[in-house]
Amino acid sequence: MENIGHSELWNECLEYIQERIPTQTFSTWFEPIKSLSLTEKELFLQVPNKFFYDWVVSHYENIIQQSLENAYGDGLRIKYTILMDDDQSLPSAEKHPQTIARQTQDDPQNIIVDNSSKIIEKGTKINKNYIFETFVEGKSNQFAKAAAMAVARDPGRTSFNPLVLYGGTGLGKTHLLQAIGNEVIKNQSLKSVLYLSSDTFTLDFISAIQKNKSTDFSKYYRDVDMLLIDDIQFFQGKESTQEQFFHIFNSLYQHHKQIVLTTDKNPMELKGLQERLISRFKSGLTVDIQPPDLETRIAILQRKAEREELEIPFEVIELLATKIRSNIRELEGALIRLLAYSSLLRVDINVQLTKKVLNEIVGDSHAESNISYSIENIQDVITTKYNINLDTLLGKSRKQEIAEARMAAMYLARKYTSLSLKNIGLYFGGRDHSTVVHACKWVEDKLDSSEEFQKRFERIRKEFDTTLF
Ligand code: ADP
Ligand code: MG
Repeated sequence: MENIGHSELWNECLEYIQERIPTQTFSTWFEPIKSLSLTEKELFLQVPNKFFYDWVVSHYENIIQQSLENAYGDGLRIKYTILMDDDQSLPSAEKHPQTIARQTQDDPQNIIVDNSSKIIEKGTKINKNYIFETFVEGKSNQFAKAAAMAVARDPGRTSFNPLVLYGGTGLGKTHLLQAIGNEVIKNQSLKSVLYLSSDTFTLDFISAIQKNKSTDFSKYYRDVDMLLIDDIQFFQGKESTQEQFFHIFNSLYQHHKQIVLTTDKNPMELKGLQERLISRFKSGLTVDIQPPDLETRIAILQRKAEREELEIPFEVIELLATKIRSNIRELEGALIRLLAYSSLLRVDINVQLTKKVLNEIVGDSHAESNISYSIENIQDVITTKYNINLDTLLGKSRKQEIAEARMAAMYLARKYTSLSLKNIGLYFGGRDHSTVVHACKWVEDKLDSSEEFQKRFERIRKEFDTTLF
């Protein structure tokens, strides 16, 4: 073992690790690590930035240690070096490695702080309540929050540029995006930050063209130190807006200005977005936010109740969190509606009142069952039963099981919601109504012809019955 080189040793470790973790995880967290040198006691590794280092150490320390023991035996430790990357666009540029020891995780950050002038907030005003402290963390959003905090701490200096956060409605994208803005405003770590929706950007652009001021427009945007744009799915199909955005993006990127974007789908799946924009996104980090699990939903409601100094029985919180599953905005909406009821009717907030409120939100009278479900309910049950995520359900995969899940969900939507075929199609990734008709027919035929399917479907239907009040 004495003569082994650092890269050989590290390659052997990598092989060990690669066999034991998902490919995606491996390429995200291990491929960027470089081995630097080996001494009698230590193997030196280089990681791209501090966030990366924190993440790797807190999540993969054990497996790294095991791989080392496997390849070398006992007695060797890993020392990490963080790359202070001054010029990310030029990989060959001079770099200044700075070694840090495990204990000094909270080294002062390498940010230029300009205390002399107050940070300029441009665009739409950022909501002061959308801060990291009020963002409840759970498995579904942990990584997104960590990445958002990393760019807020070190804008433009992590490899997460651009950072793209994506996920369904009401899952906290805007909250996190604005939390980044609030954090840099609090730290005064930049001179200016610009937050806006993609719509505002488009409108601004159109009005600039009309007034013959597109140069001013582009200067305004290129001058900011941080650009936060919400809901870029609305750029779909708007060619000249995208064109303009692309140039602004490049200019900011080249000057290491942090860009953070949100969208309701994985950018790769956004139709009508230029390839070159999407390929720019790939150079940064794209993170999804999933619907929160029950525990997180409960925690969010409890936190909200605490903040508003409300006394709400736990059964009520639990009931709300159980019934409203896929959207935090709806969850908060239900709580607010409950408060309104209780103060208007001068009654206590209790389980009975909660059921009434929930009935209004989730259930509407329905001809057949007297109950209707929200499309989110249906998608939620189906994704759980088929063990797939919402993106997959709404996506394009034609794999038999996924196609079945999708058709079953459309059938249920037709049966248990009052939505039109056209609207159901829209909820399922923008499909057209004939696809929904086909799905319903397929399910009906299958129910007639396959006993196995019938049983499977019955189990799904039962799941619905248990969500009845
Ligand atoms: P999106 O932009 O993804 O549609 P928002 O960011 O507007 O969703 O979030 C909807 C509401 O839910 C907001 O009031 C937000 O504060 C709240 N919210 C979302 N996620 C969380 C969370 N993890 N913790 C606390 N509140 C949250
Ligand atoms: Mg939003």
